[in-house]
Amino acid sequence: MRSFFFVLLAGMLFSCNENNKPSFPTLTVDKQLIVKHIKELSSDGYEGRRPFTKGEQRTVEYLTKEFEKIGLLPANGDSYHQDVPLVEITGSPSQEMTFKTKKGTQTLERYEDFVLHTQRATSELNLNQSELVFCGFGTVDSKRSWNDYAGIDMKGKTAVVLVNDPGFGGEDPSFFKGDEMTYSGRWTYKYEEADRQGADAIILIHETSSAGYPWFVIKSSWSGTMLEIERPPDAEDCALKGWISLEKAQALFEACGLNFTEQLKNARKPGFTPVPMNATVSASLTNKVKKDITKNVIGYIKGSEQPEEYVIYSAHWDHLGIGAPVDGDSIYNGALDNASGTATVLSIAEAFAGSEVPPKRSVVFAMVTAEEQGLLGSQYYCQNPLFPIKKTVANINMDGVNPIGTMKDVTAIGFGLSDIDKILKEEAQKQSRYVLPDQNPEKGSYFRSDHFNFAKVGVPAIYAGGRTEHAAKGKEYAKSFMEEYVSTYYHQPSDEYDPSGWNHDGMLQDGQLYLNLGINLANSDFWPSWNDDSEFQRK
Ligand SMILES: [Zn+2]
Repeated sequence: MRSFFFVLLAGMLFSCNENNKPSFPTLTVDKQLIVKHIKELSSDGYEGRRPFTKGEQRTVEYLTKEFEKIGLLPANGDSYHQDVPLVEITGSPSQEMTFKTKKGTQTLERYEDFVLHTQRATSELNLNQSELVFCGFGTVDSKRSWNDYAGIDMKGKTAVVLVNDPGFGGEDPSFFKGDEMTYSGRWTYKYEEADRQGADAIILIHETSSAGYPWFVIKSSWSGTMLEIERPPDAEDCALKGWISLEKAQALFEACGLNFTEQLKNARKPGFTPVPMNATVSASLTNKVKKDITKNVIGYIKGSEQPEEYVIYSAHWDHLGIGAPVDGDSIYNGALDNASGTATVLSIAEAFAGSEVPPKRSVVFAMVTAEEQGLLGSQYYCQNPLFPIKKTVANINMDGVNPIGTMKDVTAIGFGLSDIDKILKEEAQKQSRYVLPDQNPEKGSYFRSDHFNFAKVGVPAIYAGGRTEHAAKGKEYAKSFMEEYVSTYYHQPSDEYDPSGWNHDGMLQDGQLYLNLGINLANSDFWPSWNDDSEFQRK
C-alpha cells in the first residue's frame, strides 16, 4: 500500500517540472523494428558491409534513408556523412628477420617466428642493424609513477616489449589491477607509446596466456591487408611494429647473456629501467598502399534547453565483408556483430523522434565505420568531432545486442571507471535487474569497441548489456549460449540473422535500457566524471 502511494506521489511530482512544461514521456523501442533492420543489414545483398565495397555503399544508403525518414538533423552541415580517409596497407615482410648478438646471428622465419607491419603509407621500410633495448612492458604511467622508457632516447633503437601489464599473473590485485587488463597492457597502447618515444621499431614478445590468444591469431591478424587512419608523411612515429614468438625471444635473451625469467621478474618491479641488449635487428617491409574514403553516418535531435550539450549513441555499421569461405559460405554477414547494434540505435532514434517533447540536451546517433579494422571510424570522429568533445556528456555504445533472452543482469564493461555507473544502476533497477562488472576483465574488452575512443578523449561511456543470468534459465544457460556464439559464430560467415536461435526479447530489454539511459542523461544536468583511480580523464 505504502509503496503504491509513493509511486503515485512520485508520478505527480514528475508529471510537471517547475516551469509547468510537460515532463518527458515514456518512450519504448519497437522489437519488430529492431528485427526488421537486422534482417535487412545482415542480408547477403550487403556483402558483409566491409568499408570501400558495394556493401558499404548499400549500408550507407540504407542508414541515410532511415535517418531522413526518422527526421534526424544532419550532423555535418546538410549531410549525415562524415568522410573518413583511410589507407589500405598490404605489407609483405622480408623472408627473414636477423638478430646480431655477441654469440652470433639468429634468423627468424616470416610468419612462423615473426610478423612485421607498419601504420605508415610508405612503399618500403628498412630496419638496418637497429639497436635492441628491452623496455619491460613498454609502459609509461604517471599516475602509477611507472616509466619503462626511463632515461633512454629510443630514436634509432628498437624496443623489445612484453605483452600485458606488470600486474598480470601477480599476487596483488591492486598492482596494475592484478589480472584485470589495464590499457597499458593492450598492444594498441604499446604501439602508441612506441610512437611517442619515436623508436625505430617495437617488437612484442608473444606469450599465449598473457596475450589471451595463441600464435596463429598473431599470424592471421598481422599478415594481409590492414586499414589505417592516414598519418602525416613527416610523422615521427615508430615506423615498424611486430611480434616475435616466445621461443625466439627466449633464444635472443640467452644469446645476449640475459635470463628471460629474471628479466620478466625485474620488469614487474617498480624502478625497472630499460636494458640495452648489445644486439641489433635487421628486417624490411614492402607495402602496397591504397587510399580511399569510408563514411561515418551521423544525425541528431536538437535539445530544447541545453542544445549545446550532447549525449552520443554509437554503433559500428561495418563488418568483415567477403572472405575465406566456411562450409561454402563466404559472406561474413555480421548479424549480431553489429547489425544488431546498428538496428537498435536506429530504433532508439525513432523512439526519440516520436516523442512530442524534445529532450533537454541534444542526442546524437553515430553509425561509425571500420570498427573491425581497429575502431577507426570512432577514432576519426573523436579526433575530428562534429560536436565539441568538451560538451559531450556521455557515450552509449552498442556492439552485439543480447541475443540470449530476457536477463536478470546488466553486465557493464568498464564498471567502476566513472560515476556513470550511478545512472546505469538506476535504470537497471527500474527493469528489476542488477548490475555486474565485467566477468572476464583479463580480456580487456573495454578497449575493444568504439566507446573506448570516447573514453580516450575523456567522455565517460557505457558499454553494457544482459550477459550473465537468463531470467528463466539461469547463469549456466547464458554462459553456454555465449560460449557457443564465440566458438561457432563470432567473426564467421555463420553470424547470420537467426529467428530460431535468437531470443529477441533480450534485444528488446537491452534496447529499452539503452533508450532509458539516453532519456535519463538527456534530461538531466548530470555530468558524469571519471573516478580518481581510472586512467581516463575529461580533457
Ligand atoms: Zn563489433
